[in-house]
Amino acid sequence: MADIGALPLTVLSEQFAKLPGIGMKSAQRLAYHVVEMPEEEVRAFAQAILDAKRRIHTCRICRNFTENEICRFCEDAKRDHGTVCVVETPKDITAFERTKEYKGVYHVLHGLISPIDGIGPDKLTIKDLLARVNSGDVEEVIMATNPTVEGEATAMYISKLLKPLGVKVTRLAFGLPIGGILEYADEITLFKALENRSEI
Ligand SMILES: [Zn+2]
Repeated sequence: MADIGALPLTVLSEQFAKLPGIGMKSAQRLAYHVVEMPEEEVRAFAQAILDAKRRIHTCRICRNFTENEICRFCEDAKRDHGTVCVVETPKDITAFERTKEYKGVYHVLHGLISPIDGIGPDKLTIKDLLARVNSGDVEEVIMATNPTVEGEATAMYISKLLKPLGVKVTRLAFGLPIGGILEYADEITLFKALENRSEI
């Protein structure tokens, strides 16, 4: 990165530039902004980053992010623990929760199978999902990965592993544009995709 005046500013810019969606220019703008913030605010900002990193880990059951051993969805007795919605990231859970219609629980893969990026099935939480289904309490697994090449391939890969276990495997009915991102889907579209899911 080009020198933007002083070494600490360059170092800070480089840190911001590591974040997803932050280009060099934005990174520099953020770095300048930080040095102009009151020290108290900067301290709170840095502390929030450290706290999030130290306190958040993944739920023992579904691998969603949580501060506790078990996340609030897995803990909630009012939810249908026989229905598991498999998503790529914890952010996708927020999308399903927005529909206010889904009452089941989740399983977070933390990625998709992508040979090009060197991400094999072993890098995801597929083993945990199989163990959950093997425990016998799961009746339906909804494959809710995005309708991208990797999303489809991952859904197919997992469904092949699940089928012999005698569990119903369904896929969202995507009226969503191909390549559409769950995170940005509106509630109605997502609710329809969920309602019209079909067995695979
Ligand atoms: Zn959980």
